Amino acid sequence: MAVTTGSERARATLAYLRRKITTGDWPVGERIPIEPELAEQIGVGRSTVREAVRSLASIGMLETLPGRGTFVRSSTPTSTLLNEFLVDFTLEEILSYRRALEIEAAQQAALHRSDDDLEALEQAAADELGCNRCPVFTRGAESSAFDSRFHQLLFDAAKNRLLAALYAGINEQLRSPEHRGRLANVATATEMERDHARVLDAIRRRDFIDAVHSMADHVDHDVVIVSENQVKQPLPRTPEQEERIAQVRDNEASRA
Ligand SMILES: [Zn+2]
Repeated sequence: MAVTTGSERARATLAYLRRKITTGDWPVGERIPIEPELAEQIGVGRSTVREAVRSLASIGMLETLPGRGTFVRSSTPTSTLLNEFLVDFTLEEILSYRRALEIEAAQQAALHRSDDDLEALEQAAADELGCNRCPVFTRGAESSAFDSRFHQLLFDAAKNRLLAALYAGINEQLRSPEHRGRLANVATATEMERDHARVLDAIRRRDFIDAVHSMADHVDHDVVIVSENQVKQPLPRTPEQEERIAQVRDNEASRA
């Protein structure tokens, strides 16, 4: 690559990575090559690559998961568009939309998952055992992060790029400083494990109805809004929904 100045190298690197994503050369859900490899391919320094990756992550196209690598999350700059769009909506409305996405992803994952997807989901569920923060919140000085691998893999298994892109954008929005401290996780580690196991079981059996109801049950208490230190009640359910969720639990108990 015949580039000389630092800013030219930065621009060329950004364009290179962006092109890989938009052309589908690196599909959504895929892990991109590691930093030294990219630096070698493009012919620039590792810090230039790191900067370009960070820039694409900030607009929702890439996501870096510590210890796991960097993944393609969207072939379009979702969060920029979504953030502008979402600015007029309340946190309640945004969280409810996230709930809808999770439920739809669980359904699609039950229908479209491959054996590899199932294996990856099982691995993620096992890795996240004992973690009661789901999607994971990092409190204190660090920013909060929605980085439960289990949830992310569900979207990969759903094989719907639009769902995955919207999910990345919504998570980006929920992570933003204005919402910090307004969201809480009210489920225990045991509840998380039980919920994930139930969703996983439905996906394993390709039972999309159980997948929907077990995910609905899960997202009602995995992330909720805290207002004036009071945890708000999750969305009310209809008696039919309550009955269906109880059925899923009973079926699970009878299989155990
Ligand atoms: Zn979860």
